[in-house]
Amino acid sequence: MTRVADVVVIGSGVAGVSTALGLAATRQVILLSAGDGSTPWAQGGISAAYGEDDPLDHWHDTEVAGAGFCDPRNVRALVEEGPQRLAELIAHGARFDRDDTGSLLRTLEGGHSRPRIVHAGGDATGAEVHRALLDALRRSSVRTVTGRAAGLLQSETGSVVGVLVDTGTELSQIEARAVVLATGGIGNAYLASTNPATVRGDGIALALRAGASLVDMEFVQFHPTALHTGETSGQLPLVTEAVRGEGAVLRDVHGRRIMAGRHPRADLAPRDVVARAIEATMRRDGSDHVWLDATEVAPDVLRKRFPTVLASCARIGVDLLSEQIPVAPAEHFLCGGVRTDRNGATDVPGLYAVGEVAATGVHGANRLASNSLLEGLVFGRRVATALTLDLPAKDLGRTRELTLGDDRQPERIRTTLSRYAGIRRDGAGLNAAAEELDSMGTGPLATVARAVVVAATARQDSRGCHWRSDHPHAAERWDEHIVVRLDQEGRPTTRQLPTAGLLPR
Ligand SMILES: Cc1cc2nc3c(=O)[nH]c(=O)nc-3n(C[C@H](O)[C@H](O)[C@H](O)COP(=O)(O)OP(=O)(O)OC[C@H]3O[C@@H](n4cnc5c(N)ncnc54)[C@H](O)[C@@H]3O)c2cc1C
Repeated sequence: MTRVADVVVIGSGVAGVSTALGLAATRQVILLSAGDGSTPWAQGGISAAYGEDDPLDHWHDTEVAGAGFCDPRNVRALVEEGPQRLAELIAHGARFDRDDTGSLLRTLEGGHSRPRIVHAGGDATGAEVHRALLDALRRSSVRTVTGRAAGLLQSETGSVVGVLVDTGTELSQIEARAVVLATGGIGNAYLASTNPATVRGDGIALALRAGASLVDMEFVQFHPTALHTGETSGQLPLVTEAVRGEGAVLRDVHGRRIMAGRHPRADLAPRDVVARAIEATMRRDGSDHVWLDATEVAPDVLRKRFPTVLASCARIGVDLLSEQIPVAPAEHFLCGGVRTDRNGATDVPGLYAVGEVAATGVHGANRLASNSLLEGLVFGRRVATALTLDLPAKDLGRTRELTLGDDRQPERIRTTLSRYAGIRRDGAGLNAAAEELDSMGTGPLATVARAVVVAATARQDSRGCHWRSDHPHAAERWDEHIVVRLDQEGRPTTRQLPTAGLLPR
């Protein structure tokens, strides 16, 4: 069967649904999804600077967390357009937590200089955002299809003109003038991640196959505090940073504070700083976890603000109110991704990317907490606006299928990537990873893993969430982005791009 639309959006998270809704009134849209991604799991909230808070302060905090690697103009779009997109989400029916006067409650998270994180259901922000967006989607003209994008259709001139869909029982095609990748991050390429299993980097592999460029793939963010459940693979429950925002502190296995004296913001330092400190502490103590101590925080605050975290703790028999809970870092977020301009266009005609799969430069070398739901809302709308104004011309030529294929050894790929391209990396380990991955085929996970390894190998310095123990400092000659593409033989190659190269072309 072949379906036809103006635009096909792949992914039903905050970025995909925002894009589809923004196009619904002007274009025929199909939203293809393999299931829920990270969006409903988001806990802490959405950052938005309004009222007495200045978007410029939000801009500054984002730039600082991004270690100077952000695209300043795109960050400006993020912080300035964010409050309006938040207001529209509320108009769609999203219910955020409010005080007695009806004003939105705002909390503090790591890296933010003031409380600007709005939240819903205490720590169930993503679930509420997702619910409201899906309700709005049901009321719209957008057609939805359940299935996995198993490949892209490409014209003889190189334009992307459709998607191959695998529903599990049949293969079909959707022809479209534009394809928007909104497939989320790469969590499932690592052994342990906070992301659900649907988030496996397919959009990254699809983009590479179509000839698009990736950028900043070495910047993989590890959340400092996933709950240490004893499981070493799969999706781990998150303990939101907002718990530390309310006053909880990290302690080593001897009960000593980990972050005191290490950073001016101590336990609320940017994520990369906290994750590295925990990793170093665990290595020093030969432990597989550290402790998060919220016993000094008022129990009422914890009960009201963190029902999801309390429930996760209860499932492993620990009590956040009365005792320290075990935590350890886990893969969480891809800061880089498919290289796009400010309106989601990749360097392949007809192919767009938005949300976590895209690299717009708003996260730089390290994402600021609660900036990614915001990115989905803001850039989803930007892509929709661009495709409302202009749609690529219909390409009537013959098409070929660029299929994703399958991974023969997914568990080996995850093990290799986790071992050599985790929080701490070095040249010898990355070379070993590249060699091991060479024998693991060309499926989507292997493709994603190779892209991370080749970028991490190329960048011989440390900044943001890329930390090379053999090159532990930021070096000026690496003030450039690493771009990854596939060569003629399908192998990932890198080139350096001046930082300003991420500005709109
Ligand atoms: C536990 C957790 C807590 C978080 N907390 C916060 C927070 O408090 N604030 C914040 O700003 N961010 C938070 N984040 C990050 C944020 O949730 C994500 O970055 C964001 O939701 C990504 O949205 P997205 O739309 O880009 O992708 P996702 O929501 O991940 O959606 C991806 C979609 O793509 C689909 N898909 C993937 N591959 C295919 C394919 N081949 N074919 C068809 N469909 C496909 C998936 O099924 C899914 O529908 C958190 C993330 C996690 C995991």
